Amino acid sequence: MFWTGGDLAAQVPPDQTVRMVSQLGVSCGQLGIHPSAILNNEQVTAWKTALNTEGMEIVTVFASYLGESYASIPTVRETVGFVPSLTREVRETRTYECSDFALELGVSGLATHIGFVPEDRTDPEYIAVREMVRRVCDYCAQNDQIFALETGQEPARVLRNFIADVDRENLGINFDPANMILYGSGKPLEALETVRDHVVTVHCKDAKWPTELGQWGIETPLGEGDVCIDKFLTKLKEIGYGGPLIIEREITGEEQQADIRAGIALLEKLKTPLLATEKPKKRSNP
Ligand code: MG
Repeated sequence: MFWTGGDLAAQVPPDQTVRMVSQLGVSCGQLGIHPSAILNNEQVTAWKTALNTEGMEIVTVFASYLGESYASIPTVRETVGFVPSLTREVRETRTYECSDFALELGVSGLATHIGFVPEDRTDPEYIAVREMVRRVCDYCAQNDQIFALETGQEPARVLRNFIADVDRENLGINFDPANMILYGSGKPLEALETVRDHVVTVHCKDAKWPTELGQWGIETPLGEGDVCIDKFLTKLKEIGYGGPLIIEREITGEEQQADIRAGIALLEKLKTPLLATEKPKKRSNP
């Protein structure tokens, strides 16, 4: 998982970003769109050229939005995704821009955190978000894209109910097992079982459970947290997942790259015996 700006990519141009990711030894990934990234023709050309040069495939474009804060769980609740009503309209427009940008790059998936979905299915805010997700799905469908919801901010059964209520064929889930732990919203493997029919992509990320209710857990390098990444891969195989294993490490700099390299090695080691008995349906690169 890499970004147009911030996080892994900092402010370097697309060619340097894609080269750096390619040199980690992967052939596909997800591209996060920084909230302030300008998505004009010049950028489309620069990203296209960079991706073609390195032979890198983008499987999903991630949208994020101005004004979002992940400083604490309460700020996430107040600021992230489609849930805050004051920014809903401008974020809907931005989501369409990201969908169009993805289309230009030949990417068939768009994803985002939509925020904390309310549990009450009759709550007017729930209905407003449901309607917005329907519109976004319909827009993505015109662009031949899947729209995926990142997991973690609500229990899996809430997400499953929400997907049923939105009722769009191109709506799926980007399953992040570590987020379930970081937000304290459910055991990852049980959550994966609950939403198994909707998973289109996954994040390979790890974390330790929060020690206090309402506080963040702690993200760790892959294999050092409470996800039990070996069991996660086994479960993915059990549900018939055949998509890419996208490593997400939400720190920056050299440490991030070192952790991603170690994560790739770990996934290669863990997936080998799983693949020995059965071929994956699609790609097998981490
Ligand atoms: Mg994630």
